Amino acid sequence: MADPRGFLKNRERVERPTRPVPVRIMDFKDVYVRQDEAVVRTQASRCMDCGVPFCHSGCPLGNLIPEWNDLVRRGHWEEAAARLHSTNNFPEVTGRICPAPCEDSCVLGINQPAVTIKQTEVAIAEQVFEHDWLDPVVPERLNGHTVAVVGSGPAGLAAAQQLTRAGFTVAVYERDDRLGGLLRYGIPDFKMEKDILDRRIAQMEAEGTRFRTGVEIGTDLTWDALKARFDAVIVATGAPVGRELSVPGRSLDGIHLAMDYLVQANHASAGDEVTDPISAEGRHVVILGGGDTGADCIGTAHRQGAASVTTLAIGQQLPVERPVHQPWPTVPKVHQVTTADAEGGAREHLASTLEFLGDEHGRVRALRVAETEIREDGTRGPKPGTEREVKADLVLLALGFTGVEEEHLTGQIGVRTERGVVSRSRTYETDEPGVFVCGDAGRGASLVVWAIAEGRACAQAVDESLESWSRLPHPVKPT
Ligand code: FAD
Repeated sequence: MADPRGFLKNRERVERPTRPVPVRIMDFKDVYVRQDEAVVRTQASRCMDCGVPFCHSGCPLGNLIPEWNDLVRRGHWEEAAARLHSTNNFPEVTGRICPAPCEDSCVLGINQPAVTIKQTEVAIAEQVFEHDWLDPVVPERLNGHTVAVVGSGPAGLAAAQQLTRAGFTVAVYERDDRLGGLLRYGIPDFKMEKDILDRRIAQMEAEGTRFRTGVEIGTDLTWDALKARFDAVIVATGAPVGRELSVPGRSLDGIHLAMDYLVQANHASAGDEVTDPISAEGRHVVILGGGDTGADCIGTAHRQGAASVTTLAIGQQLPVERPVHQPWPTVPKVHQVTTADAEGGAREHLASTLEFLGDEHGRVRALRVAETEIREDGTRGPKPGTEREVKADLVLLALGFTGVEEEHLTGQIGVRTERGVVSRSRTYETDEPGVFVCGDAGRGASLVVWAIAEGRACAQAVDESLESWSRLPHPVKPT
């Protein structure tokens, strides 16, 4: 039972503290510092425990938010952790980088600032790590069934953990040298340091999940060979194909897909040697695209010592459309999952890129851009007479993702794709019997919270398919 007057006594919403900008941009460590425990408990007491808690449905995982808010308010951290883990495999991740749709659904938000749900979540996760409450959950018996999970992003890891705990023998195949998918090599350390991931993976190994890194299914081992070895296969390969911008000058040196840049930067943060690095040091950086990926490029470029950082939000000339009245993405809300905005740089909305201009060495030196005109018939295009140049010697294309890498997947087994993602039934099964899909590979580029929710639900579908019944939770259906 929540404190019925908590939200009246504590009206102020207190955010998680961050390190000062001039300090934090000197390194790649977490932007946030730990919130004082007393503050977290007071903030949790603002939860009204509404009769109809909309935060449940706002969260794809169906997190039992009022329950753990109240347990935290009363200082019952271990119980709060158990309630949180009952619906979410990786709260230490969502507590840090989820855009928190639950907070958008918080009823208190109607006339007061919403409850700091995400702060409570990360505080619980910090207690779990500090007190080592990550005991492996080892199944009492193995059921004799084997499952291969391809891809170790949040969807694959969530599916693997659910199935391992249910008694399946699970092997996760990952083509990268380390596990974690975009959590490892997409999202920078200043949003989530990677020891967080390592701690969770250690727990999964202790539970019995087997991991094979450096193995690409489709080339090192074919999809049909994998299928022949396992009772079920889960495709959790993400949607990594970056959207391109086909304007004159695209082939100039110094223009890169954002992910080529971020992956390298994450390897460098991990202490790996990077050959031929793309560096923003001393450069005038222009980022095209205003979503999470663009924001992570802003933060990375500042930390690398860029001379200037400019973000051009997408207009008619670029492939991703945004509503006219709201050119920045609303889901995920870029300003909620990033702290990069506070770190400087310029932003321009509705700017159309017409052309990249090069110097005599074939390297980009500027972009020719124009304002985007909204015409009476609703179409958009460059406004005549507004053309100008924006100086740039490093351009990063953060224009979203078009879908999965299809070639081997659809060529070697009977999996079909539609609009860039793997087609599936309401039970996550593809056109190839025994092959399931979850996460970005099935729903398109999305959010970590959706990847975890789909991984859990896909595990339930596999369990039901092989065991004829299942007690596992299935928080979401495929769209
Ligand atoms: P991924 O995380 O993409 O994992 C797929 C894995 O499959 C990869 O490790 C890949 O190497 C592996 N793989 C692919 N093909 C094969 C193969 N043939 N054989 C073996 N392995 C293979 N979401 C948020 O909620 N908050 C954020 O702040 C946020 N920031 C983001 C920042 C960036 C730069 C990007 C790109 C995305 C961000 N997202 C964020 C989105 C989020 O990261 C993704 O929605 C989520 O990671 C998808 O999980 P997934 O498991 O489906 O796929």
